[in-house]
Amino acid sequence: MGMIDNHLPTAELQALDAAHHMHPFTDGDKINAQGARVITRADGVTLTDSDGKEYLDAMAGLWCVNLGYGRNELAQVAAQQMQQLPFYNTFFMTTHPPVVALSARLAQLAPGDLNHVFFANGGSEANDTNIRLVRHFWASQGKPDKKVIISRKNAYHGTSVGSASLGGMTGMHAQGGLPIPDVTHIDQPFWWGEGGDSDPAEFGLARARALEAEIDRIGEDKVAAFIAEPVQGAGGVIVPPETYWPEIQRICDEREILLIADEVICGFGRTGNWFGSQSYNISPDIMTIAKGLSSGYIPIGGSIVSDHVAEVINSGGEFAHGYTYSGHPVACAVALENLRLLDEEGIVEHVGNVAGPYLTEKWKALEDHPLVGEARIKGMMAALELTPDKASRAAFEDKGSVGLLCRSHCFENGLVMRCVGDAMIISPPLILQRSDIDTLIERTVLALDKTYDGLKKDGLLK
Ligand SMILES: *Cc1c(COP(=O)(O)O)cnc(C)c1O
Repeated sequence: MGMIDNHLPTAELQALDAAHHMHPFTDGDKINAQGARVITRADGVTLTDSDGKEYLDAMAGLWCVNLGYGRNELAQVAAQQMQQLPFYNTFFMTTHPPVVALSARLAQLAPGDLNHVFFANGGSEANDTNIRLVRHFWASQGKPDKKVIISRKNAYHGTSVGSASLGGMTGMHAQGGLPIPDVTHIDQPFWWGEGGDSDPAEFGLARARALEAEIDRIGEDKVAAFIAEPVQGAGGVIVPPETYWPEIQRICDEREILLIADEVICGFGRTGNWFGSQSYNISPDIMTIAKGLSSGYIPIGGSIVSDHVAEVINSGGEFAHGYTYSGHPVACAVALENLRLLDEEGIVEHVGNVAGPYLTEKWKALEDHPLVGEARIKGMMAALELTPDKASRAAFEDKGSVGLLCRSHCFENGLVMRCVGDAMIISPPLILQRSDIDTLIERTVLALDKTYDGLKKDGLLK
């Protein structure tokens, strides 16, 4: 069978998709008029569309296919588990071997005394769990008013009502009356966009101290937790200044609040360690996990909590929370196999010692391109800030249009890269080899050149 057989012709798929499928985070009329891109297969780091065109997937799907595509081991494990025990719940004094094994393995991998896992089907659900968990944690110690969760502007923590409230995306809050009560947002450590004339190190400290000021404003006796991504992903790969996290950790150590690290993107090797918290020396009380936990092969997420948090929750009677598919046996089996492969194939070390440093060197060099103001990177997640004027760090007048233009040049050149406003971002599979990185950079440069030439021709550059 050929590569593009086994499905309807592209135009028919697009017509049916337009007629019946509603897409997440998409302008419905626009996609239906234009026709969706149809992806039909993938292997390694390469996607193939319904017309047989190939793309290097520099987004690892949606930040999740850490192990790359086409790993038969994961399919085998899923099939075997479905045959043996396709489903059983973990509610009523019951457990099963895959959920036991995965919990124990995660406790081993997670830093410090993060030894207890509450499972969900993805990151949004896990963060919803965290909202209830931290509030219940304080309430069951006689502090029911300690329920405010401090988050950050432009953070992404998911899309459910609770997790989108934790998130700091105003466009999301505007739809559906968010955030829910008792969630507040402080400024993000985004030096390129918001640092002005300040020194990045000073700026990092100032943005961290905003947490201290916010705790004082609200009152420590009313604050339950602070939640943050070690590196903000969907917000535009905001790599904080090195001064930021140590200061946040100091504040969290001094104050009686819980620290939640949302590791949904940073976890499972992305920053060169198993968790972003390890890359930044953070000691969270709770970690949110999803995405790379299964390399995206099957939906699964969860919250890994410390001994102390588990002790308080466990001794507080029934925690009235859970999902039908919390600790789904097939998802747990696949995640466990994914962790085995990441470990045995040394993928995390590959990011830390080989692919990460090589990509960093090549990525940083893109700052020489006339369109690129800043090239920032942490491990295998990176961004390019496009600007009409590097010196003043100016934004384009029609915000976001240049990013979209560059993104379409990427697609034309066989490269999947995303844009957030006028920043181009990547988060490739962690198995990227040097030759893949060379291809990625070549195609990026080509897209940047085409974007630059187009802007010049239209007189849009200063
Ligand atoms: C994707 C993401 C989530 C939400 O995960 P879903 O599986 O889409 O619900 C939460 N937090 C972060 C940091 C994410 O990137």
